[in-house]
Amino acid sequence: LASPHHDNGKGSGDLSNVAPERHKLSPAVEGVGDGRAFFTEPLRDFSRADQRDAFTAGIEQATVPQVANDGTVEDIDKAISAADAYFPTWRDRDPVERANMLVRAADIMRARRDELSGVIIKENGKCWVDADADVCEAIDFMEYYARCAVPLFTRERMGLFIGELDEQWYTPRGVTGVISPWNFPLAICTGMTTAALVTGNTVVVKPAEQTPGIAKIMAEILWDAGVPKEALHFVPGKGETCGAALVRDPRVAVLAFTGSKAVGLDIIKAAGETPEHQAFVKKVVCEMGGKNAVIIDTSADLDEAVLGVRASAFGFQGQKCSAASRVVCVDDGGGVYEEFAKRLVESTRALVVGDPKLPGTDIGPVIDEEAASKCRHFIQRGKDQCTCALEMKVPDGLEAQIGKPYVAPAIFTDVKPEHDVAREEIFGPVLAVLRAKDFDDALRIANDSPYKLTGGVFSRKPAHLERAKREFRVGNLYLNRGITGALVARQPFGGFGMSGVGSKAGGRDYLLQFVEPRASCENT
Ligand code: NAP
Repeated sequence: LASPHHDNGKGSGDLSNVAPERHKLSPAVEGVGDGRAFFTEPLRDFSRADQRDAFTAGIEQATVPQVANDGTVEDIDKAISAADAYFPTWRDRDPVERANMLVRAADIMRARRDELSGVIIKENGKCWVDADADVCEAIDFMEYYARCAVPLFTRERMGLFIGELDEQWYTPRGVTGVISPWNFPLAICTGMTTAALVTGNTVVVKPAEQTPGIAKIMAEILWDAGVPKEALHFVPGKGETCGAALVRDPRVAVLAFTGSKAVGLDIIKAAGETPEHQAFVKKVVCEMGGKNAVIIDTSADLDEAVLGVRASAFGFQGQKCSAASRVVCVDDGGGVYEEFAKRLVESTRALVVGDPKLPGTDIGPVIDEEAASKCRHFIQRGKDQCTCALEMKVPDGLEAQIGKPYVAPAIFTDVKPEHDVAREEIFGPVLAVLRAKDFDDALRIANDSPYKLTGGVFSRKPAHLERAKREFRVGNLYLNRGITGALVARQPFGGFGMSGVGSKAGGRDYLLQFVEPRASCENT
């Protein structure tokens, strides 16, 4: 599979086609990271033997820390007490010092990149390119947020009025509960945790129960980089107990959550409760699911479209919130639908289902038995309701060898908008291909979902691309490329509708969610 960061054929590190002054996605901030400007971390180039060898060695060397997921409600209570007590000290710390802790942590991750990818591969079953991208994104979040945070704490003069000094600035909110998912077990956990820390909030992290090992390494790296243990608390435990307690504690001022719609909505509701002794209204930063569609126009370059859709639908076994799970193909009677579906099926057949530790593997295991049985349920629903154009097989003995369940790619055609595979977030390698009679119809079908996360259009008609920008209402729209692999600062990421509330991760205004604005007016 093409790397998600290479969907547009331009590597994240390849800035050769960009004017030098436009490289600076975030300005250098005095005193932060020796004044370096922000660049995204270049992905490994696995066409080079030296990088492949180093990566293989990293995987061999990687050990997944054994973390007992036995945190209790009392552990959460203790962590919140300590985080609450330390908050004033951390809040008042020099913002440049806090930012430099993130830059140091990024340096540590950079030095351990291949080993960290190895931990991700072994713990959650990502294949090489996706594990590498996960680590790169974690590094990017820290470098970027370090640079964005410092200016928030500098008082900005508003207007120039004689006899009056008006200023605005920001102040940290308080204890932040971070509840993270397993699917970007390093990047998302690091992004939410460090956004809160660098803006002066103390943090209690509850990682996903499937991936506590890489989350623990993240916490250790941040502590080693200078973040005080009193400011960052790591409590592995179950969502229904530890997560629920963290959400409901009246001392927690911010909740940063990424995960499913069901849990996200429960958190938003619980956070809306304001018991009498709670001194604030909680802020919820909530990123939820997607049912993302790619429109294939009659004018689309099908070579590009097939590769873009294949990578977006089946990269990391479809377990990305940004993954393509619907294709809406415009068919004006010219046979584009049949042609596209045929080529997509044949191209997908070429993917290798295997051991994620090996470089040639495209499809690894799914996260757990629950995820596998959910996928199998929807594959059966697809067979009942529409046409199964492809159901790949898992090689004999592979599940026993890897010790994890597998679901191989499945593609359904003749799918109607009301069919289950076109409506539910399956979160696995299952793709529904729908038919639209014209571009208007395609936009209508693509928009017909409560989720508003990512979307894509393959078209050679500038007017259709322009209409998609106006009318295809999703958080992240991709034109003539795959729909996964958002890069920090270049494609700030996040949705609306039932895909989440809050501003985009890796974007300019993300950090504003972790602070309160303040203003003063002085009669001078
Ligand atoms: P999940 O089941 O909602 O779990 C996410 C986190 O919430 C885990 O740490 C989980 O703990 C915890 N949790 C579970 N029940 C809870 C409760 N009652 N109260 C508080 N916390 C609770 O989601 P997932 O399966 O890990 O992740 C997949 C989902 O995340 C998909 O829907 C995907 O689309 C979404 N996602 C969205 C984005 C985005 O940016 N929009 C990014 C990545 C993933 P346990 O692990 O202990 O259950």
